[in-house]
Amino acid sequence: MFDNLIIGAGPGGITASIYLKRANLKIAIFESRVPGGQLVNYNEIENYTGSKNFSSIELATDMLEHAEKLNIDIIYEKVIRVEKNNKNFFEIITENNKYTSKSITIASGTVPRKLGVENEEELSYNGISWCAICDGPIYKGKDVVVIGGGNSAVEESQFLSTFVKSVTIIQNLDKFTAEAKAVNKLMNTKNVKVYFGSNVKKFIKDDKGEMDGVLFKDSDGVERTVKAEGVFEYIGMIPATNFMKKFDILDGYGFVVVNEKMETKEKGIFSCGDVNKKQIRQVVTATGDGAIAAQNVIKYLEEIK
Ligand SMILES: Cc1cc2nc3c(=O)[nH]c(=O)nc-3n(C[C@H](O)[C@H](O)[C@H](O)COP(=O)(O)OP(=O)(O)OC[C@H]3O[C@@H](n4cnc5c(N)ncnc54)[C@H](O)[C@@H]3O)c2cc1C
Repeated sequence: MFDNLIIGAGPGGITASIYLKRANLKIAIFESRVPGGQLVNYNEIENYTGSKNFSSIELATDMLEHAEKLNIDIIYEKVIRVEKNNKNFFEIITENNKYTSKSITIASGTVPRKLGVENEEELSYNGISWCAICDGPIYKGKDVVVIGGGNSAVEESQFLSTFVKSVTIIQNLDKFTAEAKAVNKLMNTKNVKVYFGSNVKKFIKDDKGEMDGVLFKDSDGVERTVKAEGVFEYIGMIPATNFMKKFDILDGYGFVVVNEKMETKEKGIFSCGDVNKKQIRQVVTATGDGAIAAQNVIKYLEEIK
């Protein structure tokens, strides 16, 4: 029996675990991928207090090492379903095991949204990627397409431009929505071309079934193709909450609804970070939520003693 089980070892989940472990509670974190969450999917972080080297991977490593130093267990299993038993405890069902806990903290973050166009599924992770830092080097010296125009699209295009042959950005709006500083830097980069007001229609495969390019409708209504060996999609994120569908704690988009104590309306279920319905999804807000959630888990466990 655990006091609290945390789902997700990103900045929110790791922070919650640090506070809970320091309160001598029996806890563990589930992680389906690698600890650090989205921090391992990009390069630079310039706005997290104290991360002076600006390396998001380094920050993820520091967070993990902090948890390891406190002997926090990370269970490398994907949570598939959560249920409540007749004693009001929670059963956490993973691919291979079942765990019981007095309370849970959801910290599962978000996953990238997909376009839903022809050939996207077939080429996923084999031509189409959602992580430039992980897959970008495969396309060194080659032509790539980036889809989107927010901070992620702009920053990752800049990163890719330093080693690929060309970056073509396809953005559905008529401007970028990223921060001005990042946009200005990108617009002064030689091997980057942008199509605004353009919508992707399908991905084109070559005769071997591999990524060959993107067909899109340009702002003048004409369908055009752009050659590419790799495509990176940055069109937003959706909450990773499929495993919580049984509980009436999600909004219409699947984000977890919490109060200022990071409590859901279901007793014993707390939630922190990007997975929550909230205004700003950043590392600093995820860690803040994690600390608040943990303090209220501690109070809850006192109450049900
Ligand atoms: C390209 C990009 C650039 C960014 N740049 C910045 C920046 O410069 N500054 C900044 O502050 N923020 C930035 N962010 C946002 C920041 O990374 C997030 O706000 C932060 O990581 C959220 O932390 P989290 O712990 O809530 O969730 P996440 O980091 O998403 O971590 C959630 C974890 O839960 C795990 N998980 C999910 N479902 C399950 C399951 N069923 N079972 C087990 N484990 C599960 C995931 O594998 C993941 O490790 C950026 C994000 C992206 C994508």
